[in-house]
Amino acid sequence: MKENVFPCPVAKKCGGCQLTNMTYDEQLKFKQAKVIKLLGRFCHVDNIIGMKEPYHYRNKVQAAFGRTKSGMIISGVYQSSTHNIVKVDSCLIEDKKADEIIVTVRELLKSFHLTVYDDRTGKGFLRHVLVKRAFGTNEIMVVLVTGTPVFKSKNDFCKTLRSLHPEITTIVQNINNNFTSLVLGEKEIVLFGDGYITDELLGYKFRISPKSFYQINYAGTHILYSKAMEFADISKEDRVIDAYSGVGTIGIIASQYAKEVISVELNKDAVRDAKINASINNVKNIRFFCADATEFLLEAAKENEKINVVLMDPPRAGSTVAFMKSVCTLAPEKVVYVSCNPETLARDLFYFTKHGYKVKKIQPVDMFPHTNHVECVVRLCRT
Ligand code: SAH
Repeated sequence: MKENVFPCPVAKKCGGCQLTNMTYDEQLKFKQAKVIKLLGRFCHVDNIIGMKEPYHYRNKVQAAFGRTKSGMIISGVYQSSTHNIVKVDSCLIEDKKADEIIVTVRELLKSFHLTVYDDRTGKGFLRHVLVKRAFGTNEIMVVLVTGTPVFKSKNDFCKTLRSLHPEITTIVQNINNNFTSLVLGEKEIVLFGDGYITDELLGYKFRISPKSFYQINYAGTHILYSKAMEFADISKEDRVIDAYSGVGTIGIIASQYAKEVISVELNKDAVRDAKINASINNVKNIRFFCADATEFLLEAAKENEKINVVLMDPPRAGSTVAFMKSVCTLAPEKVVYVSCNPETLARDLFYFTKHGYKVKKIQPVDMFPHTNHVECVVRLCRT
């Protein structure tokens, strides 16, 4: 293994990329071996699909703002498990444009006499800047997270920022005056544009608001969702459940092949966006429920719903025994499990294979180059 293959000067302090000592090829081999070790006992593991361009893939970039001991304003990331900000002006995995906008915001603070937030005293103005870019449409959203609602010369500030970056399509102020490590607060004020951006993915439009979850790697998402559709192999007679559905992406893409899709998601903002997404795409055969996926599935199992395919994409912690038990009661012919954590995936596949399902396909996809994360799509069939 070579030292410092990945030329990042702050790799150690930032901690965001763990595989900087490997070439991209070595990283893919490392991830393939990891997936085989965890999941190889269930089924043959297909070759990991890597990225053609493994740099600048992150479409969502956030920077914390603060001061150095000498008083200089800096922006960047928190050093792992500390409150110190590591200065980052450009990052090899983040979108270049987003990084440029964040540096411009930092440079404008001084001329507008705006301060940065101090999380020890709770005083000061700018806490974070979040930039989201829709790679499919090139729309860009800038979210200025502030410790106070008062924003001096906000119109001039936005005008100047837009004149320097005409590609920005919307600017939102988010107010977060809590002592919290969460980036975004509850309250939002739209300063320019619509307050959201719209991306295009696999022929559908998706609205992205400041708080809603959206996959961070656009090219990788195409591969991931296409594999999920291939493995689900849905037909026009099929009733499909899309669990942990976020803003409805997988369910909406699946709807074209299915008779009906039923989506369930816990986050109410995501469900609101999902309903809007169905409507802007004119998708009529999908319903969204805001609920805990486990409770929803328990109900569906009790009511003996006829379900042919379950698509599930849980968070890193994986699913629950009660959820999987309900899936087994509903007995769909196919389950497609999209996972961002092969450890919890191994645990959950163990349950499914003990309760009437067989793993037929495992496809790793490298959605997060240079980090040790790996995404997998799994096809399970009822035996
Ligand atoms: N399928 C979506 C989102 C995947 S992320 C996509 O591809 O974009 C996982 C989602 O699970 C998040 O939106 C999160 O809010 C949701 N979630 C987490 N716990 C949940 C639960 N107990 N019940 C339902 N949804 C949950």
